Amino acid sequence: MTTRSLFLLPGDGIGPETMAEVAKLIDHMNAKEGAGFVTDQGLVGGSAYDAHGEAISDADMDKAMAADAVLFGAVGGPKWDDVPYEQRPEAGLLRLRKDMALFANLRPAICYPALADASSLKRDVIEGLDILIVRELTGGVYFGEPKEITDLGNGQKRGVDTQVYDTFEIERIAGVAFELARTRSNKVCSMEKRNVMKSGVLWNEVVTATHAAHYADVELTHMLADAGGMQLVRWPKQFDVIVTDNLFGDMLSDVAAMLTGSLGMLPSASLGAPDPATGKRKALYEPVHGSAPDIAGKGIANPIAMIASFAMCLRYSFAMIDEAVRIEAAVAKVLDDGLRTGDIMGDGARPVSTAEMGDAIVAAYAAG
Ligand code: NAD
Repeated sequence: MTTRSLFLLPGDGIGPETMAEVAKLIDHMNAKEGAGFVTDQGLVGGSAYDAHGEAISDADMDKAMAADAVLFGAVGGPKWDDVPYEQRPEAGLLRLRKDMALFANLRPAICYPALADASSLKRDVIEGLDILIVRELTGGVYFGEPKEITDLGNGQKRGVDTQVYDTFEIERIAGVAFELARTRSNKVCSMEKRNVMKSGVLWNEVVTATHAAHYADVELTHMLADAGGMQLVRWPKQFDVIVTDNLFGDMLSDVAAMLTGSLGMLPSASLGAPDPATGKRKALYEPVHGSAPDIAGKGIANPIAMIASFAMCLRYSFAMIDEAVRIEAAVAKVLDDGLRTGDIMGDGARPVSTAEMGDAIVAAYAAG
């Protein structure tokens, strides 16, 4: 039987509560469908700091590196506000991203019909939306050197960040976007600022060349990133896959995500390069939201972002497309049935707890 290894890092705050609902799905799939998931669990963030004095231990880091995929909950909370900078909860997530070399961040923006009225945009603009933002995650202005504040000696200081991209970094993120587009509506829109940035000129050239060399069957368009921001709120359904750099991707993916409603609904995936021997990519899946200390421990967090992150894991790490589609359909079904956690509450809906929402999704999946 195939075994599929999953390393679970629930983290802090609502992380463990939402991960528990994914564990129910994993147990169901193992028991009823012979899915063969083998899970192990570790500590990350504040809970790891309390246990080991660091945001993730070397032993858990080794397990994350060895697993087929990592499921990550959330980290942080006021309890750890004063821990030293190197040991702060977020350092655990940053180390995972760095050591696993996760250069591609995938953020889908999907509008569930039942939640279309919760968007700040009109229903016809948003209903049926299904786009994917592919953001370069390990390069660009957040990491480029020099990165410094210098004292100019005349009462002035100068802050410098450096936007820098090499050909290979653009080629590999473009490749991810084109390959994903082939599994969707086969369209990629690349966004940069080639009108004012040299890195944008190179980005445009390399994406164009990568397309011509390997992905000519995919429809490619280019858009300036500022215009892309406008188009995302004007008519987002024109897009399928958007590929962009670290800085623009950070902003555009937040804009796209908020088109569809609550933080409690938003999944993400971060992927590394394929292993030359096995073809497998290192991968980490996590909700976009944080540890929500204001509602932690109350059993009222929305588990859908975590569950949808698991669906992404099935799709991208295990090619279990049918199962991923069935989980997404189960989420749509319970929303259609009017079940709501507090963050997505609407008129006439039925309030449910984290566990009730998870149980309903497992039941809808089992019936689907
Ligand atoms: P947050 O995402 O934790 O919460 C923002 C608001 O959204 C809160 O009101 C919260 O109750 C609500 N919310 C978030 N997820 C929800 C869910 N699943 N269901 C219902 N409501 C939900 O962001 P924040 O308050 O800015 O940060 C809280 C802590 O989380 C901080 O320590 C921060 O550093 C950390 N954080 C961690 C991550 C991560 O682990 N990747 C990301 C962002 C923030």
